[in-house]
Amino acid sequence: MIEIGGIQKTTLIDYPGQVAATVFLIGCNFRCPFCYSAELVLPEKIKSQPRLSEEDFFKFLKERQGLLEGIVICGGEPTINKDLPEFIKKIKDLEYLVKLDTNGSNPQMLRKLIDEKLIDYVAMDIKAPKEKYGMVTGGKASLKDIEESVKILKEGKVDYEFRTTVLPTVHTKEDIINIAKWIGPAKSYFLQNFRAEKTLDQKFEKIKPYPEELLKEIQKEISPYFEVCKARV
Ligand code: SF4
Repeated sequence: MIEIGGIQKTTLIDYPGQVAATVFLIGCNFRCPFCYSAELVLPEKIKSQPRLSEEDFFKFLKERQGLLEGIVICGGEPTINKDLPEFIKKIKDLEYLVKLDTNGSNPQMLRKLIDEKLIDYVAMDIKAPKEKYGMVTGGKASLKDIEESVKILKEGKVDYEFRTTVLPTVHTKEDIINIAKWIGPAKSYFLQNFRAEKTLDQKFEKIKPYPEELLKEIQKEISPYFEVCKARV
């Protein structure tokens, strides 16, 4: 059973080029201290998070057919749900495009969703350069799985982007350059500036984001590794 923690009924920015809705699935296998979604990640907060039933979710999708083009499946981490393929099949049956947001921790599920043509676009988070991955994900990531997911996406069977939320005290400019060298050459990579809002570890709420200029400077430097490379500031 899929547990739905909420829905954003319309978004013009989460699915490139499409008018979409975003569905937030409950649960995550990482513990990134700067995560914005503690209510979908920490068991003690998940308990008090309201749920949306699958029935109500699909009722909403039927009502919006023709008005929305895509559905973004976000978390938490959607691929921890073994029922995800069935859930997406039901969305595809209603003729929506599907974008998956993932931390890349489940390459087997990613492969299955691509092979069964259940997803049209994937945004995969690259949390840090290799040597910092464990620290940045609360010790939960398997680098082997992350690298396998990167490899699967780079096969180009589905449209994709890699992306990194960049923040002071976690990433240096050198770290981002190391990420680019690690995952590049690749189709697209986006740097996203950190927003100082509610975070899983509250001490990150006080961190000031990097100035836009610095992100743009890094973006220029790593652009040769990607067909498309932008800073979302
Ligand atoms: S930021 Fe980290 S902890 Fe939060 S949902 Fe994404 S992968 Fe999970």
